[in-house]
Amino acid sequence: MSHELYLLVAVVVLGIAYTIPKLVRILVFRGNMLVTCPENRLPAAVRISMWRAALAEALGGRRIQLRACSRWPEHSGCAQDCVCQVLRDPEGHRVWNIAGNWFKGKSCAFCGKPITRLGRLERPPALLDADKKTTEWSALPPEKLPEAFWGSKAVCWSCHVAETFMREHGDLVTYRPWERSGPIGEYTPHTTESERESETSEPRRAA
Ligand SMILES: [Zn+2]
Repeated sequence: MSHELYLLVAVVVLGIAYTIPKLVRILVFRGNMLVTCPENRLPAAVRISMWRAALAEALGGRRIQLRACSRWPEHSGCAQDCVCQVLRDPEGHRVWNIAGNWFKGKSCAFCGKPITRLGRLERPPALLDADKKTTEWSALPPEKLPEAFWGSKAVCWSCHVAETFMREHGDLVTYRPWERSGPIGEYTPHTTESERESETSEPRRAA
């Protein structure tokens, strides 16, 4: 290998070693971020232009710009004054972290099971609103989350699926509560005398 080729390989390796840590640092700006819009003082969901942030970081500066905002395109010509909020505390404005903090330590409003940590591979928990309707938190527009969190209770994914099915297909469901009354404390179906009589007189449509 010639000296020129060694020199070229060394330059490339040094360039990669210089650039990669900088690129890793801008990963804190990935994903949806929640900010307070300086114009109307209400929550807005924004996304940072990662390419521009990477270019600025590689050139030795830190300058970020928005790639998307929930108030666009109506206000797409705004001054983007909200980026200083993200620059100051990127982790604190990431939607995943905000949702994770809200669910932390909460239990399901139906079964009482603790809500597990949010994760990309985990089934998402849901919110129970004042109308007794459950919605997966990740299905809500990010800018609506602060308002939704304020008046909702946490629900585990399993109860959310069951509640949704009962709400949408109530005619196919027979509600049968369970209680810890088995010989070793296990859950057994709780039925009243009238339910037992109706069970013997006509077959169930569904269980
Ligand atoms: Zn539950």
